[in-house]
Amino acid sequence: MSSVQKKTDIILIGAGVMSATLGALLKELAPDWEIKVFEKLAGAGEESSNEWNNAGTGHAALCELNYTSEKPDGSVDISKAVKINEQFQLSRQFWSYLVDHNLIRRPQDFIMPIPHMSWVEGEQAVSFLNKRFKALSKNPLFQGMEFSDDPRKLKEWIPLMMEGRTPNQPVAATKTDAGTDVNFGALTRLLFDHLQGRDVEVHYKHGIKDIKRTGDGMWKVKVQNLDNGQIEYHAAKFVFIGAGGGSLSLLQKTGIPESKHIGGFPVSGLFMVCQNPEVVARHHAKVYGKAKLGAPPMSVPHLDTRYIGNQKALLFGPFAGFSPKFLKTGSNLDLINSVKPNNLFTMLAAGAKEMALTKYLIQQLMLSNEQRMNELREFIPNAKSEDWKIVVAGQRVQVIKDTAEGKGTLQFGTEVVSAADGSVAALLGASPGASTAVHVMLEVLEKCFPQHMKAWEPKIKEMIPSYGVSLAAHPELLQEVLASVTQSLGLREEAPQKQAYF
Ligand SMILES: Cc1cc2nc3c(=O)[nH]c(=O)nc-3n(C[C@H](O)[C@H](O)[C@H](O)COP(=O)(O)OP(=O)(O)OC[C@H]3O[C@@H](n4cnc5c(N)ncnc54)[C@H](O)[C@@H]3O)c2cc1C
Repeated sequence: MSSVQKKTDIILIGAGVMSATLGALLKELAPDWEIKVFEKLAGAGEESSNEWNNAGTGHAALCELNYTSEKPDGSVDISKAVKINEQFQLSRQFWSYLVDHNLIRRPQDFIMPIPHMSWVEGEQAVSFLNKRFKALSKNPLFQGMEFSDDPRKLKEWIPLMMEGRTPNQPVAATKTDAGTDVNFGALTRLLFDHLQGRDVEVHYKHGIKDIKRTGDGMWKVKVQNLDNGQIEYHAAKFVFIGAGGGSLSLLQKTGIPESKHIGGFPVSGLFMVCQNPEVVARHHAKVYGKAKLGAPPMSVPHLDTRYIGNQKALLFGPFAGFSPKFLKTGSNLDLINSVKPNNLFTMLAAGAKEMALTKYLIQQLMLSNEQRMNELREFIPNAKSEDWKIVVAGQRVQVIKDTAEGKGTLQFGTEVVSAADGSVAALLGASPGASTAVHVMLEVLEKCFPQHMKAWEPKIKEMIPSYGVSLAAHPELLQEVLASVTQSLGLREEAPQKQAYF
């Protein structure tokens, strides 16, 4: 069949948290627009957004040391931490709106309060953490953070981590109770249930094979029904490529000038998981340490309490690794197939520049289970091998592009790449990731629908009161937003429904 079957307003490619978020925003802003979703897997939130494929941290810079850096004069730069915290606040407000309007239910199925902590060892690191704590504490976004280098206090906060530790070794931590564990898989499924209830057609087991512009300025999408192999064609005025690691190859197929000179570098991940209830009961926090020398920022080791499928578990990792696949369910040819004449030199330049990173990833891949246990023992000195097993996490495809810093520069953030006329947009990169989905999808709307933004703004502000406003600079609005989000999402640890849940 080669004819276009049906025209629609919007096609979303991929049923991960990004398409789910964009679909949910559009359903509120332009309820009459027809939306179709195509996903190659059998359900929503099965790739990176799945709860077992990511760390589930609501990234708000409350514990991630890599979001603050030490300046040459010794002071601590918190500007990135402020930015990420404000971006996460946008997500929380939108989720609250959806809950308050009964569009998604039971927030405890996807978000739980959990203390976020930073953890350091050694005199220099302790002094840095103290400076970082003082710098953050001056900002209203980080109110309530505590610092301690007193082993007795630390024992109260993180008993499992303090047990069996060499005495007199300088250690310190910061703690805030404002942190969250987010089950992005559950959130994605809830959002897709909501979308399907609002007449969005979601086609699972349908893979996108090609995207081409048509003469009338629309996009023709070649779709394969993976159950029977049949090819269908669908056309849309706007296509969002939210295919996670699969986005780069689909973006390249569009042929838009903005898709050129961009490459991708896949980084795989492993976690260690403990489901022994006795061990799990002795730790209640997400504790982020310092990245090892030469490690990329997404490899910061952390020990997390996770809420997955009505159960508490501990996750440690991630251990990075190298795999040429761009998706966990991808192909070993993904990396090689992503190299095109227009990005060959960009990729080669990155290859030459990033030898140390490649070496680090290969070393990580070669670690034995006992070597991984030894890394875990830096967090839990008495950890027993029999309590921990390995789970394979999702793939992250880091963007490589030519920047002012030179050809083939590896990017660790998220990038929205869109056509000049706003008719197609793709999301590349994976950090800070799902936590900032609302911020990133608002960026897609701003880039692709500038003509509608003025009319949409009042509704956006109703859903997300801090849209366009810095919460750090508006403490009264921050207090209002925090109070209403905490209430709507049930984010008080002592809330009765949280206790009843487990
Ligand atoms: C190890 C790891 C840890 C992470 N930890 C965190 C964290 O703690 N906090 C956080 O906020 N973020 C985290 N992230 C990032 C976060 O998981 C991602 O940013 C987010 O899930 C990306 O969502 P997505 O919708 O873009 O992609 P995905 O969830 O991967 O969805 C893309 C979908 O597109 C589909 N698809 C691909 N190609 C095609 C095609 N050709 N046709 C049809 N469908 C297609 C895929 O099957 C998939 O379902 C982590 C990621 C990893 C890998």
